[in-house]
Amino acid sequence: MERYQFQAESRELLNLMVHAIYSQKEVFLRELISNASDALDKLRILSLTHKELVPEGHVFEIRLIPDKDTRTLTLEDTGIGMNHDELVNNLGTIARSGTKEFLQQMKEKHAPSSELIGQFGVGFYSVFMVADKVEVFTRKAGESSGYHWVSDGKGEFTIEPIEKDTIGTRIVIHLKPVDEENGIEDFTAEHVLRRIVKRYSDFIAYPIKMKVVREENKEKKEGDEILNSMKPIWTRKSSEVTEEEYHEFYKHLTHDWEAPLATITLQGEGTVEFQALLFIPSRVPFDIFYQSFEPKVNLYVKRVLIQENVDLMLPRYLRFVAGVVDSPDLSLNISREMLQQDKTILQIRKRLVKKVLDALADMQEKDREKYKKFWQEFGVILKEGIGADYENKERLLSLLLFESSAGDDLVTLEEYVKRMKEDQKDIYYLTGESRKTLEHSPYLEGIVDKGYEVLFLTQPIDEFMMSAVHEFQGKKFHCLNKEAAEEKPSEIPEEDKPIVEKLQGLLSEYVREVKFSKTLVHSPSCVITKAFEFSPHVRKILGDKYPFGDERRTLEVNPTHPLYKRFKTIYAENENDERLSDLAHLLFGYALIAEGTPLPDPARFNAVILKMGEKI
Ligand code: ADP
Repeated sequence: MERYQFQAESRELLNLMVHAIYSQKEVFLRELISNASDALDKLRILSLTHKELVPEGHVFEIRLIPDKDTRTLTLEDTGIGMNHDELVNNLGTIARSGTKEFLQQMKEKHAPSSELIGQFGVGFYSVFMVADKVEVFTRKAGESSGYHWVSDGKGEFTIEPIEKDTIGTRIVIHLKPVDEENGIEDFTAEHVLRRIVKRYSDFIAYPIKMKVVREENKEKKEGDEILNSMKPIWTRKSSEVTEEEYHEFYKHLTHDWEAPLATITLQGEGTVEFQALLFIPSRVPFDIFYQSFEPKVNLYVKRVLIQENVDLMLPRYLRFVAGVVDSPDLSLNISREMLQQDKTILQIRKRLVKKVLDALADMQEKDREKYKKFWQEFGVILKEGIGADYENKERLLSLLLFESSAGDDLVTLEEYVKRMKEDQKDIYYLTGESRKTLEHSPYLEGIVDKGYEVLFLTQPIDEFMMSAVHEFQGKKFHCLNKEAAEEKPSEIPEEDKPIVEKLQGLLSEYVREVKFSKTLVHSPSCVITKAFEFSPHVRKILGDKYPFGDERRTLEVNPTHPLYKRFKTIYAENENDERLSDLAHLLFGYALIAEGTPLPDPARFNAVILKMGEKI
């Protein structure tokens, strides 16, 4: 027999479970049934490609065996089972996403709040809320030996090999004494089990069987009864499904502990027949930016699960959407590779995208608060679609929310266009690191003065996104800190040409070109980014390895500003006056600071400031 310690985090969670004052202890059954159903799904999918691993006549089922005399409840499934290492890893450590954050939250709040546990999908360990001891007997499909796992949930578990006739997992729960006040009902009572299954697990696609005694013609007969309706929730009319039922199904599907933000149902008829039930989660999954992220969309053919986590049903920018798609028009043994070219899939996908975007537009229009919550979580992912989904570009643009110079409220492009000034032709925006920098930047001069609104784009993805966007509702976009692609070279009067040349020469290490600004009013200077370049804050994010080429900047100066005039006067007196270099660094430093970019030579800039300070 081998003895193991639970991983530290597991111990923490177990401790919480055991001492939970959480009243809904019955959810342990939901969690175990959900695991059993997952194990059956895995075996079913495996059987599509590896028939030999599943015995002839194998029945896919879950069974509850209550025993009042021994005060045990046994839960048996004929799913995929676990081998030795899986037992150690799956039941001894926490792999579950979000658990660490959950524990962190608990710590921050100092008390194991029952509310938090309630929101949290507690998984296998929740069984220790109702059990003194738990035994797991399991044998994995394709393996000859089974294993017996035992723990009292205190810190250790043991494992030993056993003989087990059938594949799958049997969990024997040694129940704590009944304590109704603390949510421990008699979990061996038929009516209690019936109620819990109906409440949380009715939609489970496999039969949840239990032996019951029925009276037939005054004779008592023992027979199997199926406790769940097994009717897949997506095949039921949405008007007949309660919100709670949808939420339970969502939690089962995604292992999320929070209810979804939105539920979307869709029936396809005509050229391709299908049913879909989709969910938008309340929170962004922590691994959404990992390459390995898999969308939780499962594919069924006539109620039979054929593939899990299918990434083809929706484009990448909607990968946070979870759900199921069921279509009789697909072939049962279609491979992942074949799916990619399947016309039916492509047709369904088109409909799903449209429906999800419709649902989002609807939320944006009817429930702005909820939409803002969505935006906060998923906006940055939705933005990926702008450059990728040409067909839906305009609709995606309508879904964007922006910060703007008009106030604290986020605005849509439609709202922006509606309130554009009569003489305003373009949609103005600025990109940068933070709203604060942009709000007071020189780029707004001459624009905000005219009463024009300016959008603030502060996420790194924004610059990439905007490179794919040219207009909205016929209005062109105009980036105030970027040179337009078709911009003409700025006209510099003959008399200023040598002066501008001198200025560029003094800053040649950092500045590629000096221009006269057409917009600056109060500020002496600003830097702008070339049409096909990234701004410095995006460069920083991309890192050093990115081949940027000439990184020098374009400096725009305000020819009416006293600083430039001073430069001009000194230059007229003596072209080689040392003060010209000071003024040049002042103009350049000012522009960089206003942009929010670190100075390449702070000591040089500070030397100028000190000199000026002495003259105050
Ligand atoms: P989660 O189900 O969210 O992953 P759990 O703590 O409930 O977290 O379960 C941990 C893991 O143990 C599961 O992911 C699964 O791999 C394995 N497991 C649990 N119950 C079973 C079962 N009945 N059959 C096979 N594997 C199981």
